[in-house]
Amino acid sequence: MENTKSYQQRRVSLMPFSPTQMLWSAENGSGCNKDDKDKGVNVQVILRCRPFSEDDVRAKTPAVVACNEDKQEVIVTQNMGNKQIDKTFSFDKVFGPSSRQKDLYDQVVGPIVREALEGYNWTIFAYGQTGTGKTYTMEGEGGKAKNGEFHEDVGVIPRAVEQLFDTLEAQNAEYSMKVTYIELYNEEITDLLALDDKSKKPITLMEDGKGAVFMRGLEEELVRSADEIYHILQKGSARKHTAETLINTQSNRSHSLFTIIIQIKEHASDGV
Ligand code: ADP
Ligand code: MG
Repeated sequence: MENTKSYQQRRVSLMPFSPTQMLWSAENGSGCNKDDKDKGVNVQVILRCRPFSEDDVRAKTPAVVACNEDKQEVIVTQNMGNKQIDKTFSFDKVFGPSSRQKDLYDQVVGPIVREALEGYNWTIFAYGQTGTGKTYTMEGEGGKAKNGEFHEDVGVIPRAVEQLFDTLEAQNAEYSMKVTYIELYNEEITDLLALDDKSKKPITLMEDGKGAVFMRGLEEELVRSADEIYHILQKGSARKHTAETLINTQSNRSHSLFTIIIQIKEHASDGV
């Protein structure tokens, strides 16, 4: 968007978390406290803890994580010898195991989408060990019911795309929306939306001479409706499979990046 705000960059870090996982590495947990906000640091860190899976229950895994959504805190318990040590970590927001996709969307992502349409660049970054709920949070499962409502398991991306379309349509805006979907795996960038023969070649990072970095040959897919996004996500996710079969329980070292580019034409008061 051609206005000054477009140079602003903001970020939300979503940390999906399993209730059995230790949090010591996040000791400095929150990326944004009151002082940061005063200094204008536009980063928020949000923690989401998923519920126990059937495997966790079967293995009788003890719970070591307790979420306090009201105080935006996570309490992690560790047994050292016969001593129990509790540590508390603060975040900008905490979503416990019973939090719903819609709650996280309405409280965190809805406001971001509104700001994106005002010209701010936004990044939502989901970081966490394999199996903690990154894909569930960002993409989710389900789709739409016949009445047009989202299935309760639908995640951030389809909901955001729908909100973008709904808002732009309501404003009668002249706009276009394009998406890209890449995977970073083993230091190589793969275009998850490319046609088969093209996707075999890794994408190269190039500099444009003005200090910006771009990806040469990256496929940008035009999206005309929110429903198309399911097809695009499925198409891209199917390509991710080779990485996922090599899964190890710490990390499959695969990172995906889904980008939405919106262009809006605004008419100045003199009609130009
Ligand atoms: P990741 O992408 O981080 O490796 P997934 O999103 O694939 O992890 O989640 C692992 C499993 O846990 C999936 O079966 C997913 O459906 C389930 N899951 C993750 N988060 C939640 C949640 N908040 N509520 C219910 N199920 C969840
Ligand atoms: Mg995943």
